[in-house]
Amino acid sequence: MNYLVLSTTGLATAQRLQRELGGVIHAYSKRVQDSDTRPFDNVGAALGDLFNSGKPLVALCAAGIIIRHLAPHLTGKNTDAPVIALAEDGTAIVPLLGGHHGGNVLARNIGDILNLAPAITTASDTIFDVALDEPPQGCRLANPGDVKSFVAAMRDGAVVAVAGEADWLTSSNIPQVDTGADTGADTGTLRITITDEPMAGDEQHLIYHRQNLALGVGCERRAGGGEVIALISHTLEEANLSPLSLAGLYSLNLKEDEAALHEAAAHFDIPARFFDLATLQAQEDYLPNPSDIVKAEVGVAGVAEAAALAVGGQLVVEKQKSKRSTCAISRSDAIIDAEAHGQARGHLSIVGIGPGRADWRTGAAEAAIRHADIIVGYSLYLELIADLVNDKDCRAYNLGEEETRVAAAIELAASGKNVALVSSGDAGVFAMGALAHELLDRDDAPVHWDRISLELSPGISAMQAAAMRVGAPLGHDFCAISLSDLLTPREVILKRVVAAASADFVIAFYNPVSKRRRDLLGIARDLLLRHRPEDTPVVLARNLGRADENVTAMPLSQLQVDDVDMLTLVMIGSSETRARKRGDGTWSVYTPRGYAAKGTELGTELSKEEQA
Ligand code: SAH
Repeated sequence: MNYLVLSTTGLATAQRLQRELGGVIHAYSKRVQDSDTRPFDNVGAALGDLFNSGKPLVALCAAGIIIRHLAPHLTGKNTDAPVIALAEDGTAIVPLLGGHHGGNVLARNIGDILNLAPAITTASDTIFDVALDEPPQGCRLANPGDVKSFVAAMRDGAVVAVAGEADWLTSSNIPQVDTGADTGADTGTLRITITDEPMAGDEQHLIYHRQNLALGVGCERRAGGGEVIALISHTLEEANLSPLSLAGLYSLNLKEDEAALHEAAAHFDIPARFFDLATLQAQEDYLPNPSDIVKAEVGVAGVAEAAALAVGGQLVVEKQKSKRSTCAISRSDAIIDAEAHGQARGHLSIVGIGPGRADWRTGAAEAAIRHADIIVGYSLYLELIADLVNDKDCRAYNLGEEETRVAAAIELAASGKNVALVSSGDAGVFAMGALAHELLDRDDAPVHWDRISLELSPGISAMQAAAMRVGAPLGHDFCAISLSDLLTPREVILKRVVAAASADFVIAFYNPVSKRRRDLLGIARDLLLRHRPEDTPVVLARNLGRADENVTAMPLSQLQVDDVDMLTLVMIGSSETRARKRGDGTWSVYTPRGYAAKGTELGTELSKEEQA
């Protein structure tokens, strides 16, 4: 969620909401200076960008400003992100867009915090105190396209006959007739039916499906997703059950990394959940179709039936089989809370958060952190993402605890959690990414570790941030070398320094010094001076993207180790790199690619290659 504020009054209101609801505040830089907000200087562009991000937007300004700027961006009521206009002093809340896609709910939440009733203007909400196209959790509407006409007919005075169980409808202001089992098809009334049977519905008849069916599924290794989906669809059809009544897909935890099961769960828009062997074994006495072969293979006499039964309820469809998969269905009286049974497939995001600044993070990295249940990282990095973390479960580690930290993150993920392991810069550059893969790859790695899903989100590495601060020193071939000798022998490091020096690469030195090791940088400088002129530009970039960022440049011969600390990236130019101070005092350090040769024969060849 995002907030947009234009004034300090708006900022105070947004901060009040942010404390309860989380989210990021974007502030108009001409009027608001606050280091915890993201600045913007063009109101229209900022509104458009935030709206197009698809996240809910609370804009603390006049509704007119929002309407004028967002008009060109609107696509349709089913796709537009929720937008709420909020008076700067918090005295009026108007959900403007996406009311039935979270906008009204969000407006009510804001209303609760500000102690104020939101101005809800969507028809069904105000008159009948219920959003028919947004049924509560555990209930799915079969024919959303018919709601508009249905509500229009209600507004014209038609009454509704409700068949089936739905407290949320009976307690609403919908004008209802009580027709018992006869749903009043002949009485000219509108109808709402709550059922787990498949039904078509129409403009006079809305169909809701309660999610009270648990689907148990088993399959052979690498069975096809298409086969599993076809088996489930066929089984539902034969049993006259609606796929919308499925609450979750359940299986044995050995199958957590079985792509076909995840494909099927996604197809039916339900979570995939997994039980441990003991839980399924506890159902063995109740299986109508136990199998010795399955027992010998996985340790329980049937996965599909046992998994369906483990959720509770009665088995309504016994084991059905296709060539390589099985399924069974149980029905509970109540709506099933899918996530209360079994565990999800564990998920580990390995996330690079960039050097420090919020606006130097990638969208994918932010999303991974937002979606995570638990964030694991070095304490300093957790501070750098405080704006994203809110009240999430954070596990902070100290420097030097890398292996413990990564193993803990993997183990948490393997227990079914969504975990983000954060590194600064890019997680794959001298960071935790490689260690995570190495631990998973070890011969003695616990088998359940390899069932987690892995997602990698790129980050801006210190080398890129340093380059960007001074110009374009990486404009031609470059390499990166870590001077840390904790895990790499010094001879190897120095061999690479010499090789890079003689090959005339621009060199980014990571970990240039540590508390214990201060000599290698001086040795590297002296080696480099044998291959490069004394005035080769060097960039020292300290604390990039953080409060006390400091970037300077100097000739190689003047590089002093005492000017460098652990939070510095040292970049050495090649023999071609140039450095000059611009009129305003800023640095322009760059390594030309040779475009200046353009126009000559070589230049023409070069641009042809470039275009290829
Ligand atoms: N994964 C990180 C690198 C971690 S190694 C990345 O991709 O950037 C740690 C080294 O990176 C530090 O010793 C320093 O040389 C460099 N570094 C990391 N963040 C930095 C920052 N914000 N400013 C300057 N150097 C940084």
